[in-house]
Amino acid sequence: MTIQRTRRRPPIYRGGIPKAIKDKIPDWYQEALLWMMNKYPDVKFHNFDIVFSHNLNRGRYYRNKIGYKKGERPLIQIKTSIDQYGIWFYNMKSLGILQNCIQPGIKISIQLIIVHELTHHVQYERELPAGELLTTANELIYLRQLDSYWFNKLFVNGTGKVNPEAITKFEKTINKLN
Ligand SMILES: [Zn+2]
Repeated sequence: MTIQRTRRRPPIYRGGIPKAIKDKIPDWYQEALLWMMNKYPDVKFHNFDIVFSHNLNRGRYYRNKIGYKKGERPLIQIKTSIDQYGIWFYNMKSLGILQNCIQPGIKISIQLIIVHELTHHVQYERELPAGELLTTANELIYLRQLDSYWFNKLFVNGTGKVNPEAITKFEKTINKLN
């Protein structure tokens, strides 16, 4: 039955996620997923399994590029334990980021991890080059729409002010990516 392969499966929860967080994950996931589906309408988002776990120290996208068999599903892992150090970003100089860690709270942190890993899925589905530029760029674009306060924090210099040149650099790079 082909329908089995094409239907989106519900997320899997592991590693003792506190109930207060677990109850909210479906909505947080849906929000981030819809954003990605809108951005990439040509990409399939029903053909992977997604696991949320409190026992991970990072998100992951697993897909065996070589020997990838038809019908085999990629696996996305999302870390749900966000500590006081918050969320880290790849230090992509071309995106103009001046700080690579913020503490925007658990909802935004988990959603950024989702956007990041779903972007790896897009890279494979579209056969784009792998790497962390597009994944980080999408996190930042999502963050800017969701919460400009925390977005700006990434472009703050030593004196605590937003550096407009850094933002310009970010704009230039994302315009080239889109
Ligand atoms: Zn990545």
